Amino acid sequence: MYKVALITGDGIGPELSESVTNVLHAINDKAGIKLEITTVEAGDDALKKTGRAMPDSTLDTIKKSDACLKAPVGESAADVIVFLRRALDLYANIRPAKSYPNMPVLKENIDLVIVRENTEDLYTGMEFDVGDSAVALRTISEHASKRIAKYAFMTATQRNRQRKVTCVHKSNVMRKTDGLFSRSCAQVAEDFGNIAFEQMYVDACAMNLIRQPESFDVIVTTNLFGDILSDEAAQVVGGLGMAPAANIGENFALFEPVHGAAFDIAGKQAANPSSFILSAKMMFEWLAMKNNDVRSLEIAKKIEEAVYSVVSDGIKTKDIGGNNTTREFTQKVISKVI
Ligand code: ATP
Repeated sequence: MYKVALITGDGIGPELSESVTNVLHAINDKAGIKLEITTVEAGDDALKKTGRAMPDSTLDTIKKSDACLKAPVGESAADVIVFLRRALDLYANIRPAKSYPNMPVLKENIDLVIVRENTEDLYTGMEFDVGDSAVALRTISEHASKRIAKYAFMTATQRNRQRKVTCVHKSNVMRKTDGLFSRSCAQVAEDFGNIAFEQMYVDACAMNLIRQPESFDVIVTTNLFGDILSDEAAQVVGGLGMAPAANIGENFALFEPVHGAAFDIAGKQAANPSSFILSAKMMFEWLAMKNNDVRSLEIAKKIEEAVYSVVSDGIKTKDIGGNNTTREFTQKVISKVI
């Protein structure tokens, strides 16, 4: 039995949460794996109700769970997700960009993953007013850079595709911080002689993600660059509605869509739940690895195959060129997953 804490979020968060809960309940009933899902509050609504975007009780429940599923939160995102990543030391943010059939895209057959350092960089929130200026501190450490580089090389080893890691930075301008990141990755690369290693400036990477996305396997990069490049990579394969993510630490992990609360489409049944359903798939993969649990791995495969099959059949939400609602899409996924 696995305990899963679910943050239902803001904007389209509650619709995505309903969708993923229904998929998980179907799995609970039919797939022979027990999940205990506890809904917890965090985000803009929690802030209004309790005065805190991340109430202590939420953090307690998350810590007592085996994993956390987090729908997007709104304006208070920094107090929720940036806080959780640091508080739980979820140092690796894994953001796959993978082609699914029937997407409104220019290129097919993309399968890359962005491994984003999740605890440092400009995300530490160290900002100050100095005279008439505002100053932000960017921290990059050798420890965190080597830790994320190692994770990227392990990912490339396990994926067993092109077996390549691309280290992305801007060390020609940020010589100290990105210089350290680049050097640290290069040092780790020496321990993985069977994986190709290349370095790329972030602007060139942004261009190449459009020009030749198929040339990438694993991209490892710093926090802010990873945030920006993963939205771009998501669009290359069909859009944010198809983009899941995992935040992984030594002992705990949290799974969430790449995108934010998308207030423009909230409450309209227009959200694509794939991003959150595929995040749940990543959760089962992680649970499988952590607990040596073959059944969880089978469920992960089933979820991915179900989404693949649903979009192949032309059942799609508006963002990917269809006219199905969030609930219709979810029902189809459920019918294929069990
Ligand atoms: P954040 O900075 O919090 O990530 P953002 O400003 O990048 O947020 P998002 O909320 O991530 O904005 O989404 C950008 C746009 O993409 C939304 O306005 C919405 O139209 C679209 N979008 C995002 N997620 C989905 C989804 N699951 N289904 C359909 N459309 C989506």
